[in-house]
Amino acid sequence: MSRYPEAVDVAIVGSGPTGAAYARILSEAAPDVTIAMFEVGPTVSDPPGAHVKNIEDPAARAAAQRASEGPGAGAATVNSPGAVKSGERRARPGTFLLEEGYAFPGEDGLPVAAMSSNVGGMSAHWTGACPRPGGSERIAFLPDLDELLDEADRLLGVTTDAFDGAPFTDLVRERLAAAVDEGRDPAARVQRMPLAVHRRPDGRLVWSGSDVVLGDVTRANPRFALHDESLATRVLVEDGRAAGVRVRDLRTGEEHEVRARAVVVAADALRTPQLLWASGIRPDALGRYLNDQTQVVFASRIRDVGPGAGAEEAAPAEGGLSEQSGVSWVPYTDEQPFHGQIMQLDASPIPLAEDDPVVPGSIVGLGLFCAKDLQRDDRVEFSDEEVDAYGMPAMRIHYRLTERDREVLEQARAEIVRLGEAVGQPLDPRPFTMPLGASLHYQGTTRMGERNDGTSVCNPDGELWDASGVFVAGNNVIPTATACNPTLTSVALAVRGARAIARHLAADLASVEN
Ligand SMILES: Cc1cc2nc3c(=O)[nH]c(=O)nc-3n(C[C@H](O)[C@H](O)[C@H](O)COP(=O)(O)OP(=O)(O)OC[C@H]3O[C@@H](n4cnc5c(N)ncnc54)[C@H](O)[C@@H]3O)c2cc1C
Repeated sequence: MSRYPEAVDVAIVGSGPTGAAYARILSEAAPDVTIAMFEVGPTVSDPPGAHVKNIEDPAARAAAQRASEGPGAGAATVNSPGAVKSGERRARPGTFLLEEGYAFPGEDGLPVAAMSSNVGGMSAHWTGACPRPGGSERIAFLPDLDELLDEADRLLGVTTDAFDGAPFTDLVRERLAAAVDEGRDPAARVQRMPLAVHRRPDGRLVWSGSDVVLGDVTRANPRFALHDESLATRVLVEDGRAAGVRVRDLRTGEEHEVRARAVVVAADALRTPQLLWASGIRPDALGRYLNDQTQVVFASRIRDVGPGAGAEEAAPAEGGLSEQSGVSWVPYTDEQPFHGQIMQLDASPIPLAEDDPVVPGSIVGLGLFCAKDLQRDDRVEFSDEEVDAYGMPAMRIHYRLTERDREVLEQARAEIVRLGEAVGQPLDPRPFTMPLGASLHYQGTTRMGERNDGTSVCNPDGELWDASGVFVAGNNVIPTATACNPTLTSVALAVRGARAIARHLAADLASVEN
């Protein structure tokens, strides 16, 4: 007996925030529609898809992270943001690295390209920064982009006030603003980072994962079912139309066909094109225009705050952001094509002299993400002969920084030192360029286009040019070179796609009834 239905209206592959956004919008807008979601990884948190940082017991949290690391589980991970050393290939907890094929001689490659395999995908492990795109990061051919971004804020539970009580956040923002804001439009000035987090009435922080995106409406939908440990091996297309998915039940090893009228592939920026390739859907732009955001990091100690400044009682927490942390945002502009995320860190990871106690919250980690100079040849390719640990076509990444990329990177390195000095005393005078792939923001591999001219894979609804009823979701759909954290934008694009499916299914039904 299979645990899967024989047929549904919509099959969704991947349970990250973009797959979850499809399920949520369909549950709200088309409650009669039957939906099956297939996720290769296990359920690691409760409710399914919840952020593992909400798990209070450190041992249980570490187990949830390991269970998300797929074939990489057990490998050493980086235990704090920015702690990667030069030349080191380590994944962040909850993620695993591509084992091979990540770089080729004479190319830069993406040495730390990473994935997560668990219910919730990377959103069970993310930082939750949800800035809006600005300038050329925006998708100019989408007139409804702002309304879609508002919806994405709603689905992800984005707030800006969770850290308003945190010590020194105002001070950090004021110092950054003095260094940055002159001549900038109000939207591009230094501000609080919108974050997918809220505070419970008892004061504890709750980080949003796919559980928040799904929401009670999806969980209560009797026509929605989430199947974990279920690998989609093929999207079925008949007569140019979506017909269903082939799924391998990882608990039994058996394969099943589930018929569907629409299929959504939301399987991350590397595995979405992989599944299309495995299904024989191979448009010219598939896997191409791959772009990652080169990341520079730096750390400063806030000037003129000493013991007695009022932060001693805040308890340091494990992981990246602690309870006393604030996050500031230096928005991208076309003149300065990088995006700044400035986080106050716990004192714990910073080794300072014993007789020089660190005031909690007084160490500031700065990160600048650079927008890529998009190239058609930057790509993930797939093998017809070799397979990965899941038995899917093996990946090969071809990726190069252009001269323009290196110029922007140098600009970002100079800017981050300037910002770090504006805030306080740099801990090390040299900024650190992270190994490529560290941003975890891979985009472009199934990009959206206004027309079918060979430079895109899907239309503005995320529906494939080559197969009607097959939709793609994720950062891979974003056609622009963004520097800002992309999840808010990719959830916004998923909202548009889900509405299109609801419309298609309603029209199908009407034509059957007539
Ligand atoms: C430590 C960390 C910090 C981050 N911080 C931020 C941040 O601050 N802001 C931001 O915007 N982004 C951040 N990100 C990135 C963010 O988490 C991703 O952009 C987001 O999760 C992408 O959503 P998605 O739904 O497209 O894909 P994912 O969340 O990657 O989910 C895809 C899912 O598909 C599943 N899957 C893949 N192939 C198959 C298959 N064949 N069959 C079935 N299932 C399959 C995978 O197991 C996975 O669960 C961070 C990520 C990490 C790990």
